[in-house]
Amino acid sequence: MLWSQTIACQSRVRTFLDRLASYPPSSLLLEGGTIEERRNLSLFWAARLHCQQEHAPCGQCRLCVQIIEDTYRDLIFLDGALGTISIETIRDIRTVLSDPPVGHGYRVMVVAEAQALTPAAANALLKSLEEPRPGNIFVLLAPTREILLPTLVSRSFVLTLSWPRIEESDPQLQDWMHKLGEFIQTGRGNLLDCTSKKGAVDTDLAGRILREVQRSLVQAGYGVPVSNLAQILSRRLDVVSMRQTCVIIENALESLRLGAQPAVTLEWVAMRTWGLMHK
Ligand SMILES: [Zn+2]
Repeated sequence: MLWSQTIACQSRVRTFLDRLASYPPSSLLLEGGTIEERRNLSLFWAARLHCQQEHAPCGQCRLCVQIIEDTYRDLIFLDGALGTISIETIRDIRTVLSDPPVGHGYRVMVVAEAQALTPAAANALLKSLEEPRPGNIFVLLAPTREILLPTLVSRSFVLTLSWPRIEESDPQLQDWMHKLGEFIQTGRGNLLDCTSKKGAVDTDLAGRILREVQRSLVQAGYGVPVSNLAQILSRRLDVVSMRQTCVIIENALESLRLGAQPAVTLEWVAMRTWGLMHK
């Protein structure tokens, strides 16, 4: 089943969703976790609201399969990971939202990586949240609520997924985090010497480094900078730059998934972040 592993790792959130299902909030915000976990949980939630089987969602009935395959008529899945979400897109969807759902249940609109909404699009979406039509349920996904329009957050029921395990015990990762921290502060250090060594960083390691940066951004965003990098970020980045860095990291992770060179991806992140710190 698409979401089984996510559900196993995020059992606390699953319990909440089960409780919410009998009276679902009109807008749910899922933050934290990984991009895949947020997606899987949003589909789990949509299926939880539609599946008629005894242990819903079963993941196998016609409705569940259609939801997983994104072919279900009352599911709108907007994917911010694919690029900016414009006001035109939201306006078109608002026309659909003004009609009742096609089926008997809810219409679920998922905005994945909602930080990709332009400010105008976010405000247009806010209107839908403020004047909910019966039958429409919204799900916003984001790495952290800090990078969303605050009014969108305040209109939503927020569930925080647990973060991937902190890998403090991994000396190789810590070494890379140190080099990255040094580079984004000074533009120097031996980060680029290391990334230019053939085979020094593979996709898996690059992904772990980027997720560590993500975790540090969240710590910085919440005002509890624990890691060394989080302390650097919270000292040097304002809210807007922090949001831009989140988008940079999400884009980098997506590039890695699509097969981009890990060393080049890390260099790109380091330089863009350095640029934001020294603009
Ligand atoms: Zn089902």
